[in-house]
Amino acid sequence: MAEPATAVEHESRWEPGEASRRLFSRACEVIPGGVNSPVRAFGSIGTSPYFVHRAKGARVEDVDGNTYIDYVQSWGASILGHAHRDVLRAVARAAESGTTFGAPTEAEVRLAEVLCASVEGCERVRLVSSGTEATMTAVRIARGASGRAKVVKFAGCYHGHSDALLAEGGSGVATLGLPGSAGVPESAVADTVVAPFNVVPALDRSVAAVIVEPAAANMGLVPPAPGFLEGLRAACDDAGALLVFDEVITGFRLDRAGAARVFGVRPDLWTFGKVIGGGLPLAAVGGRRDLMESLAPLGPVYQAGTLSGNPLATAAGLAVLERLEPQAYEQLAGRVGRLASGLAEAIAAAGLPVQVPVCRTLFSVYFAESPVRDYEGARRAARNGLYRHFFLAMLARGVALAPSAYEVGFVSLAHEEADLERTVELAAGAAREVAEALQ
Ligand SMILES: *Cc1c(COP(=O)(O)O)cnc(C)c1O
Repeated sequence: MAEPATAVEHESRWEPGEASRRLFSRACEVIPGGVNSPVRAFGSIGTSPYFVHRAKGARVEDVDGNTYIDYVQSWGASILGHAHRDVLRAVARAAESGTTFGAPTEAEVRLAEVLCASVEGCERVRLVSSGTEATMTAVRIARGASGRAKVVKFAGCYHGHSDALLAEGGSGVATLGLPGSAGVPESAVADTVVAPFNVVPALDRSVAAVIVEPAAANMGLVPPAPGFLEGLRAACDDAGALLVFDEVITGFRLDRAGAARVFGVRPDLWTFGKVIGGGLPLAAVGGRRDLMESLAPLGPVYQAGTLSGNPLATAAGLAVLERLEPQAYEQLAGRVGRLASGLAEAIAAAGLPVQVPVCRTLFSVYFAESPVRDYEGARRAARNGLYRHFFLAMLARGVALAPSAYEVGFVSLAHEEADLERTVELAAGAAREVAEALQ
């Protein structure tokens, strides 16, 4: 695929090309807002999106022929990079034998074996098709096993779009258990309690579970403060509540053993998604055997799925997990560390306030004077609008970051040092342009 566009150093505003614009207007006639997941619409950016024609490795090409170094990577699902040869082969080979059966297959068993063997303490897993399903099921297991109703979540953490977990908080409304979305009745969130991230909440014996992203990666990146996860573990133990790590992003991204090894705290239940599906719809809920065996058909907690454990998805997931040896994470962490410090330097040199937090293999960019510790901080950082300008200036230069200040950056194993160096160079120009426009 062609190198990213370079001759647009002074292009102050990225605009979608003609073909993307035409597709978007067609889409808006048949799909609400033109997209099948809201952030894709580029609403907070104030423009409409590029439509993807194809992608390979670290690059994505839009329908107008523009190429971008891609740090979205399907929100982290493509850890090997786009269209990895081994993944494509595995999917093609699986497809030859049929795409779905509604009966069990060996690949499901193999994928479950890999997950259980990789994550210490995760003794049983159930495969599902999305992270939303996985977290919804984790909560149901916790409630079923404990006979309690309340679930504590943290403001700014995202756990998919099920009713009970949508309350996103930050505001008093959410803390009071009011709906975070229209269409969610108060009764559906009456047992959801929202607490500030990085502060251990007081728990009582009505709490079934505390669900947390061990490193919050849906409000930009907010690593856990020292003692936070340990404090949650202790508070859950004292109250007899279950601790759920939502590792839909962090699982098999920070480390093969998950956040438990990185941070030294083990939850009772886990959710995985994104990386483990290798770019196909697949996620998992897992945990202690006694808890997991409360699921039907063994126990009273019901859960099911027509396409759960889908053969194409399990084939892709296995192909990816096979390639994620420990040194892959070291390589990724090294690259992300260098990219993050390069970005921080380049943006600061333009005189803009910037924080580039890193958690092993994840990073994000906040236009803020001081480190962000919670959702309030993330919202304060997003309010100055600098992210949007920087995003557009980067896109105009051939770099695709997440189209929202509340997301993280995903480097894949296909991003080479030269791609990262190029990204930093382009960021320096983009930051200068943003700074000049401010004057
Ligand atoms: C993406 C995400 C989800 C939801 O996963 P979907 O597959 O989009 O339903 C849940 N939790 C976290 C932490 C996520 O990042």
